[in-house]
Amino acid sequence: ASKTAFLLSRRQDNIPRGIATAHPVVAAKAKGSELWDIEGRRYLDFVGGIGVLNIGHNHPRVVEAVKAQLDNVTHACFQVVSYEPYVALSEKLNGLVGEGYKSVFFTTGAEAVENAVKIARGYTNRPAVIAFRGGFHGRTLLGITLTGMSQPYKQNFGPFAPEVFHIPYPNAYRGVATQDALAALEEVFATEATPERVAAIIIEPVQGDGGFLAAPVEFMQALREITRKHGIVLIADEIQTGFGRTGKMFGFQHSGVEPDLVTVAKSLAGGFPLSGVVGKAEIMDAPLPGGLGGTYGGNAISCAAALAVVEAFEQDNLLENGRQRAAELKVGLESLQQKYDFVGEVRGLGFMLAMEIVKDRKSKAPDADRTQRILEEACKAGLLVIKCGVHRNVVRFLAPLVTTSEQIQEALAIVHKALAAA
Ligand code: PLP
Repeated sequence: ASKTAFLLSRRQDNIPRGIATAHPVVAAKAKGSELWDIEGRRYLDFVGGIGVLNIGHNHPRVVEAVKAQLDNVTHACFQVVSYEPYVALSEKLNGLVGEGYKSVFFTTGAEAVENAVKIARGYTNRPAVIAFRGGFHGRTLLGITLTGMSQPYKQNFGPFAPEVFHIPYPNAYRGVATQDALAALEEVFATEATPERVAAIIIEPVQGDGGFLAAPVEFMQALREITRKHGIVLIADEIQTGFGRTGKMFGFQHSGVEPDLVTVAKSLAGGFPLSGVVGKAEIMDAPLPGGLGGTYGGNAISCAAALAVVEAFEQDNLLENGRQRAAELKVGLESLQQKYDFVGEVRGLGFMLAMEIVKDRKSKAPDADRTQRILEEACKAGLLVIKCGVHRNVVRFLAPLVTTSEQIQEALAIVHKALAAA
């Protein structure tokens, strides 16, 4: 048997099936937009550890910063002593988000979401939280409660956290207008939680796991108006949309709306575990000393890595490269869509692009089986992509912003091959 088959059988014997694997590939090495497996096969990696590698695998700036930090302090716990990388990263992020922001760091995205809700409740002294159908906010108990999808995230994992209500996420392709979503919000206010009982509304500016659906600008603006009027904390979950993925540093910047709290993780530290909540100072200061934290939160090595990520954005023209490559990928995917009736929609914002796979364009009926075959064919031909969407019928592309034109064309040729074979 191959080395791959041997490792996968050890995986199967020792690791529960609940942690699924998208591809039968064993990673050995990676650089930029490419990954090599233990058989020496090369792949274009348009997954990037699920949106973690916006600046690419093993970015030289990150590697250098981490090596330097390893010689200084690896871990000290920010609840015990202070260290420069945490404070310096906070200064940078606060400035990137807006004026008058503070930030606190954790380890995973779900933890950032948990803490954003804690901070919002601490500030407002209200219980309820409103989230969206199709939203994804992590795998902790509150994370899955906020998540607006069922299988496999929520099934049999209840009872869920109380005081969480869901409304539809507006999207034209799905036939949900901005007005429908706003009406559903009013309905929650009228029946389940009056606005005076609502601590926060949490929204992904572009739903990630839910299928790469972008909220209409007018919806984001309406949400900002309503939350401001009622003293509700508006949380933008930028864990997947942040750090240039949508063509701007943060997804909320497309609508000009200023969120009260922003959750960040994934691409924040270029491959190291780090998350954070960035928010308006007055709200962030609501929890008492000791009310926030976590042993590993804002780990020194992860913070050093994140500082290198921010530096890369400041100096390497990443946003512009990402925007150009995104345009090339989108044009290519749209021309493939013309050839195949089962490609229902090509959509996304910036470099957060996706292809919805359906039985046929007229019915829009989801085709999860063909989607799975497309992923398998793409993998066989050397392109790693994964799926998303409530019905798991959306192929999502999370190419690093450092991807080259040649790599985009190579990926498009593979997608063409995979669509033809699937
Ligand atoms: N929020 C969003 C929008 C996400 O995409 C994710 C992860 O996919 C999370 C939260 C959870 O992050 P983590 O898996 O790091 O806990």
